[in-house]
Amino acid sequence: MKQLERRTWAEISLPDLEHNYRALRAMLAPGCRFLGVVKANAYGHGAVRVAQKLEQLGAEYLAVACLGEAVELREAGICAPILILGYTPADCGGELLRYGLTQTIYDAGTARAFSEAACRAGKRLRVHVKADTGMSRLGWLCGGAALERAADDIQAVCALPGLEAEGIYTHFANADSDEDYTMEQFTRFLDLLAELERRGVTFQIRHCAASAAVLKYPCTHLDMVRPGIALYGHYPDPSCEGLDGSGLIPVMTLKTRVASVKDVPAGTPVSYGCTHVLERDTRLAALTAGYADGLPRVCSDRLEVWLQGRRIPVVGRICMDMCMADVTGLDVHPGDEAEIFGRHLPAEEAAALAGTIQYELLCAVSPRVPREYLEQDGDKTL
Ligand SMILES: *Cc1c(COP(=O)(O)O)cnc(C)c1O
Repeated sequence: MKQLERRTWAEISLPDLEHNYRALRAMLAPGCRFLGVVKANAYGHGAVRVAQKLEQLGAEYLAVACLGEAVELREAGICAPILILGYTPADCGGELLRYGLTQTIYDAGTARAFSEAACRAGKRLRVHVKADTGMSRLGWLCGGAALERAADDIQAVCALPGLEAEGIYTHFANADSDEDYTMEQFTRFLDLLAELERRGVTFQIRHCAASAAVLKYPCTHLDMVRPGIALYGHYPDPSCEGLDGSGLIPVMTLKTRVASVKDVPAGTPVSYGCTHVLERDTRLAALTAGYADGLPRVCSDRLEVWLQGRRIPVVGRICMDMCMADVTGLDVHPGDEAEIFGRHLPAEEAAALAGTIQYELLCAVSPRVPREYLEQDGDKTL
């Protein structure tokens, strides 16, 4: 559907997504599978369109956080295997089977419930076992003394009827900045795999590398990698920049429009709380984006936007649906486009101003903001 209005919108460049996919794919050994992480509406980029593109490009697997996200993709016609990384209630085994999903298993009780559901349905549920090697989130603890116990549990779970234990994985806590800890985690994972193999338990797909490890530690790629943020064109950490060789390109550019322009005399306060008082006569543009669109309000008076090829400061508090920018000296008109972050202004900068990370900024682009998909490089404007 063509949008009624373009007030604030996110341009999603599918050619840039393809570029990033190919750049990451080129880092993998032949035979290593590619799982594209499309949780949280593909980090705000629109899960269905991103999944369609990744499927078309040949990604072997997709991953989401929860059942609802997986069902959205299946109902949109996505056929690729989908791994649910997080919690699915024990009584939702029927849905997992009906939609042909792969569930992460991290405790014996839920595994038994899913096994029973599969047996009742006369089907097999594909599962990936999660090992906790040091993230302290989901999975069987398997460091040091816990190894034997984890192997016992995992061996028992893999033997349950109705479950097909296709994969096993772990997740790094600090792959972007601590090599020693990452290698410690990796060693724990390998030790667990060796112990399980000794017991005759093996897995077709062993995986542990998210974006940072894909870029920094090729030895961790194993049978599959799980990049998320890098697919969307952002490095998890500056230390990862350039490691892919061709340079990742941000896929999303968040844009807004000028609603009004006026010349306001010195001494006039701007926006809620009157926190910013103009020091000189100022040309102010009211922009049609606010915190309900995903601009962090904490960036009030600090954010910059890109307008007419330069950085423009936001002045005063960011409102729910608007914010004001100082366009003194510029010939700006209602309807003009401005970039909030993306091609010209890295999301990392705004994230730093907000005291957060680019991941959160991308996810915070609200449902009110329409996503416009660019199919070809030439579709880019501004
Ligand atoms: C989110 C997530 C990823 C992707 O992480 P990025 O840093 O975005 O690449 C991979 N694996 C798991 C388990 C995750 O939760």
